[in-house]
Amino acid sequence: MSPRHIPKILRNLGVLAAMSLLLTVLAPVGASADERIQDVNLRTPFDCGQVWNANTRTNHNPQLSVDFQRSDAMGQNTRSSAPGTVTTVEDLGDESYGKYIEIDHGSGVSTLYAHLDSQAVSVGDSVETGTVIGTVGTTGGSTGPHLHYEQKVDGTVVEAVLNGLEILYYGNTEVTSSTGC
Ligand SMILES: [Zn+2]
Repeated sequence: MSPRHIPKILRNLGVLAAMSLLLTVLAPVGASADERIQDVNLRTPFDCGQVWNANTRTNHNPQLSVDFQRSDAMGQNTRSSAPGTVTTVEDLGDESYGKYIEIDHGSGVSTLYAHLDSQAVSVGDSVETGTVIGTVGTTGGSTGPHLHYEQKVDGTVVEAVLNGLEILYYGNTEVTSSTGC
C-alpha cells in the first residue's frame, strides 16, 4: 500500500461512519418501546378537564390494561389519544370487549378502547388527538360503565403512559384530561 492511498481509505472510512450514523438516526427499530410510546405522546382519552381514576391490577386481562372509572362514566366522550388511523371497529356482543375500537398511531404504537356504548368512526378513518371516536359504556363482559384502555407496541400491551406520565402499576392514579384544552 503506497502512502498516497491512505487518505482515500480514510475518506472512505469517514463516509461509512457517516452512513452508519445516518442509518441509526433513521431506523425506527433502534427506538425502544418506551421511546416510541413517548414520541407518539398519547393523551388521556377524555374531554378537557375531566378527572378519571386509572385503575391497574394484576388480574386484568390483558394484565397491563387500564380501566378508567368515574361516578358518571356512562355516555362520556371517548377521544383518540393521538393522531392515527382507525384499524378496528367491532362489536363482540355480550362477550369480552363488547363494542371496541383500535387506532394505529404509527411507529408500531396502537391504542384500544373497549366496552363502548357507541362507536362514531369507521375503519380507515383518520383521527387527530382528541377526535371523538365513541362514548363510554358497559358492553361486552363489563359489570359497570368504564373505559377499558390499552396501549400497545408491536401488538403487545405495555404499561400506559398518559400526558407523558407513567401511571401506577399496580393501583390507582388520578388523571386529569388535558386533551383538546
Ligand atoms: Zn378492563
